[in-house]
Amino acid sequence: MDLKGMIREIQDFPKEGINFKDITTILKDGAAFTYVIDKLAAQLEDLEVDVIVGPEARGFIVGTPVAYKLGKAFVPIRKPGKLPAETVKYEYELEYGTDALEVHKDAIKPGQRVAILDDLLATGGTVLATAKLIEELGGTVVSLNFLIELTFLRGRETLKDYQVKTLVSYN
Ligand code: IMP
Repeated sequence: MDLKGMIREIQDFPKEGINFKDITTILKDGAAFTYVIDKLAAQLEDLEVDVIVGPEARGFIVGTPVAYKLGKAFVPIRKPGKLPAETVKYEYELEYGTDALEVHKDAIKPGQRVAILDDLLATGGTVLATAKLIEELGGTVVSLNFLIELTFLRGRETLKDYQVKTLVSYN
């Protein structure tokens, strides 16, 4: 399946100089969406994953169907203030300022094997923060899986301590 041909590219969104990769053009095609989820799930075979973790918001879109397909748990990672119970927070640097992500304190049991899924790997900052949260709770991050990789942003260098797999890459 020509996934690259199906991903819509939008120039200067959300700001000038960014060539945004829009996956809604895959999501609205049932056969393509199914293909993507099946491929991502296949990458996790043999890893004995217990939990799929997805960062807000597009990590939910790819993470939950993979968790369902594998019969595994799903844990959401959210921006501060969104999760209702006790949370752990991880703050990370952006080009200008900082950002933060949270997870429920009881979301992961020590020793659980975790795969983190998101739609797109850019600098790797979002998923590195997610991995740090999981590790703080005692989980083991066994795989990072993405639909799209922007290789020129060198996310794999940021994520060098982890196994990274992607379906489509842009150089
Ligand atoms: P990173 O933290 O720099 O790797 O950025 C990845 C995060 O930003 C992911 O959660 C993506 O959903 C989002 N993102 C960055 N660029 C794009 C894009 O071109 N299309 C869709 N999402 C993007």
